[in-house]
Amino acid sequence: MTLGTCKLCLQRRALCDSHALPSSLFNYILRRNSGKAIVITDDAATPARLSSDTWDAALLCSECETRLNRQYDAYGIAVFRGHRGSVRVHPEGVDLLNVDRRRLRMFFLSVLWRVSVSSHPSYSNIDLPYRWEEDLRQALASDRPVPQSRYTVAIYKMRDSTPVGGFSNEDLRSFLAAPFARDYGEFLSVCFPFLSFFVETFFPRVSPAYAKRRGVLHGRGPVIPVPYVEVLEIPEIMNVLVSALRKHLKTEGVHGAA
Ligand SMILES: [Zn+2]
Repeated sequence: MTLGTCKLCLQRRALCDSHALPSSLFNYILRRNSGKAIVITDDAATPARLSSDTWDAALLCSECETRLNRQYDAYGIAVFRGHRGSVRVHPEGVDLLNVDRRRLRMFFLSVLWRVSVSSHPSYSNIDLPYRWEEDLRQALASDRPVPQSRYTVAIYKMRDSTPVGGFSNEDLRSFLAAPFARDYGEFLSVCFPFLSFFVETFFPRVSPAYAKRRGVLHGRGPVIPVPYVEVLEIPEIMNVLVSALRKHLKTEGVHGAA
């Protein structure tokens, strides 16, 4: 166990191996794939590999770790594994019913904050400006929701409509990729796949017109409409898939020559 300053309560304490994307997400994927996740990266130096790494780093004291796990991770995972609320499927997407959208939004913001403060290499390309990081830290440390007027969270349901040989919903549930950022000029976003959903968190926030779009977690209504997004139309994911395929073919080539 490492001694250090807890990123959440700022006390000097023994630190746990903390997760940004919840450990239960990794457990779920690893269980379904004999203890190894297929991790794909667009980093040319890193081969696509089977890994049991769960992207943890010494970040939080055990008290803060337990609190975030109970308050946010357990809820977020329960919703997306179908243990909380229910899902209605229709041609344009899915509706999440009887889900606490405020808690869901805070769950994703807590993941994002942990991604930003984590020193794990899978999260090294995401580092929020100190002001936003500190704003989120204070909210999470005092267990108060961040107002909807600050930061926007949107979720989409991934699917692959390729007629033959596409990814099934089950494949997409095991899809794991390092979070990546987008620059829209006036605002930024950080995106990551999550149990066949695609999450995009915007900083500082999007314009009011955009904020009413389907998939954005706003308001208080009982139904959260989640539109479909074609996984192969997400350019960053396409890039990783193509680069993983190239690496795979290269490895095959090496084996063939040997
Ligand atoms: Zn702490």
